Amino acid sequence: MYFKERTHTCGELRESNIGEKVILNGWVDRNRDLGGVLFIDLRDRYGITQVVFEPHINAEAHQAAKNLRNEFVISVEGYVRKRPAETENPEIPTGYVDVMVEKLTILNEATTPPFQIKDDIDTHEEIRLKYRYLDLRRPKLQRNIVLRHKMYQITRKYFDENNFIEIETPVLMKSTPEGARDFLVPSRLHKGKFYALPQSPQTYKQILMVAGFDRYFQIVKCFRDEDLRADRQPEFTQIDVEMSFVDQKDIFNIVEGLMKDFFKEILNKDLQLPLPRLTFNEAMESYGSDKPDLRFDLKMVNLNSVFQKTEFKVFHDAIENSGVISGLLAPGCGDYTRNQLDVLTDFVKKLGAGGLIWMRVKEDGLEAPVAKFLSSEEKQNLINALSAKNGDLIFILSGSKLKTLNIMGALRLEMARRLDLIKADSEPKLLWVTDFPLFEWDEQTKRFYAMHHPFTSPRLEDIELMDKDPALVKARAYDLVLNGNEIAGGSIRIHNAELQAKMFKILGISEEEAKTKFGFLMNAFKYGAPPHGGIAFGFDRLAMIFAGENSIREVIAFPKTASAISLMDDSPSSVTDDQLLELHIKVRKSAHE
Ligand code: ASP
Repeated sequence: MYFKERTHTCGELRESNIGEKVILNGWVDRNRDLGGVLFIDLRDRYGITQVVFEPHINAEAHQAAKNLRNEFVISVEGYVRKRPAETENPEIPTGYVDVMVEKLTILNEATTPPFQIKDDIDTHEEIRLKYRYLDLRRPKLQRNIVLRHKMYQITRKYFDENNFIEIETPVLMKSTPEGARDFLVPSRLHKGKFYALPQSPQTYKQILMVAGFDRYFQIVKCFRDEDLRADRQPEFTQIDVEMSFVDQKDIFNIVEGLMKDFFKEILNKDLQLPLPRLTFNEAMESYGSDKPDLRFDLKMVNLNSVFQKTEFKVFHDAIENSGVISGLLAPGCGDYTRNQLDVLTDFVKKLGAGGLIWMRVKEDGLEAPVAKFLSSEEKQNLINALSAKNGDLIFILSGSKLKTLNIMGALRLEMARRLDLIKADSEPKLLWVTDFPLFEWDEQTKRFYAMHHPFTSPRLEDIELMDKDPALVKARAYDLVLNGNEIAGGSIRIHNAELQAKMFKILGISEEEAKTKFGFLMNAFKYGAPPHGGIAFGFDRLAMIFAGENSIREVIAFPKTASAISLMDDSPSSVTDDQLLELHIKVRKSAHE
C-alpha cells in the first residue's frame, strides 16, 4: 500500500490516547489557517478529529496542508496531545484531544462540492439526489443508513430465533395482483414474452407453505409501477412473512414480538403488549381513517342517533340514504373567526364535501347558521354526545358513509396540526386495525376489487354472505398502524380451491383468466395446502418513523424522485436500437410527437 493503514478512526481518540503515535485517514471537513497554525477537521463515518499542522513540527507537512481543500482525502501521521485549556470542544467525543501532524499524504483531491457536507443545509433535494454520494456523507444520512442496517440485523436475528427460514424468491416472475401496474421485463429468448417484477412475493410465499416451509421470512425488494404520489418509490423494501397452521392471533404474536425488539433496541422503550386493536368500522367511525393516528385524542362521534327524527333536511337525507352524520369537537376553538372557518370549509370542499357545518358552543347554547333548523332537544343531545363545553367549536359533516368519514378524518388531522397536538416527543402509538371489508366496490368500472388481494380469506362466518351481499363480507385481514402510518398489512389466506374459485368469480375473474394468471398457485393448492397466513411490513416507512424523518427518501441510500427518476445515474434512460432489436421491441412515437 502506498499509504500507511490507519491506527484509529476519526471518532476514536480520547484523552487516554494522549502521547500515542497515530495514523488517521479521512476527508477534510473544514480547515482554518490561523496564521502559522493550521487546523483541519478530519472526518470519516465514525466522527471528526481535529488535526493540527505547525511549521516547527514538520515544515513540509505544514506547507502542503495549505493546499488542502474541503473533501480532499488525506492520511496523517502524528501524535495525540491534550487540547490546550479553553480550546476543548465538549460537543464531540474527540473534542479533548488534537493530533499534531508529522506527516501528511494527500490520497486524493476533490472538486469543490455543490453543497456543504453538513446537516440542515438549504439545498434543493434534486441537487442532493444528483450528488447522492456527497449527500450520504452528511451525518444525518449516515445515521439513517446505519439505523436501517441495525433494523435488518434485528429482523434477521428475531426471525431466526423464532424458527423462521429466510428464502429468496425470484425477481423475474409472473405478475402478482397487489393492485398496481407491473414493471415488465421483455424476454430476449422468448419473443413477445415478458417477466414481471414482483409487486410482492405473495404467490411464492404461499407456495412455500405448500412446500412445507412453515415459517418463512425475507427482506425483499418489491416493485410497483404506480402513478406519481408523494413519498412513494417504484421500488421499495418489505419484511415479508408467511406462516402455516396459524390463525390471526399467531401472526399478531410474532409481529408484536418483533415490534417490541425494535422499540427496545432503537427507541429504548418498553412496548406494552398486546397492542390495542380497532376494527375497520371502529377506526373509520372514530378517526375517519383505516390508519388512525392515536397520538392525540380528538375522536369523531357518530351523531345519527341524535338526529334520528330531525326535520333538518340535510341530516334527514343522510339518515334516509343509509349515510352518516359525523361530529368532531375542536376544544377551545369557539372563537375561530369567519375567515378561519371559511378556510376549513374550503379544506373539506376540496376533498369532496358539500360544505362544513360548524357551531360555536356558548354559555347559553349553540350559535351557528344552522341552529335555527334544530330542535332544542337535538341541540342539547348534540352537546352531550360530544361533551362540548362553553368556548368549544363543533364540526359536523354528513353524507355517504365512507366518504364522509374519510373527509372528517382529514379534518381531524388538520385540526391536530392547527392545535399543535402532535409533539416531537409524543409517545409513538401502535395498533392493529382488523376486520377490513373483503371487497371494495368501484363505481367507475362497476365491479368489486379485493381490498387486500384475491387470496385473502373472508371471515368464516361471512362466507354465506359472499353470494348474497359481497359488500358486507369482512376479511381476515389486518394492518399494523404506527403514528397514522400503515406499516404492515396481511391476511389469513384462502387455502381451499372451491372458496378461491368463488372469490375469483365475485372479482369478475373468469375461470380462463384465473387459470392463466394463477393456475400454478391453484395447482399447488391441489397437493395439500396447509392453512396459512402472513403479513408484510413496509420497511422504508418503518425506518423513516424510527429515524424521525418525514420522507422515505431520507432512509433509502439511492432513492428515486417522486416522478420515479434516479437523478444520479439518470435512469430511466434510452437504449440502443440494437438492444431493442434483440428484445423484439419497437418504441413507437405517440401521436403528438
Ligand atoms: N403481499 C401483501 C402486500 O404486499 C402482504 C401480505 O398479504 O402478506 O401487501
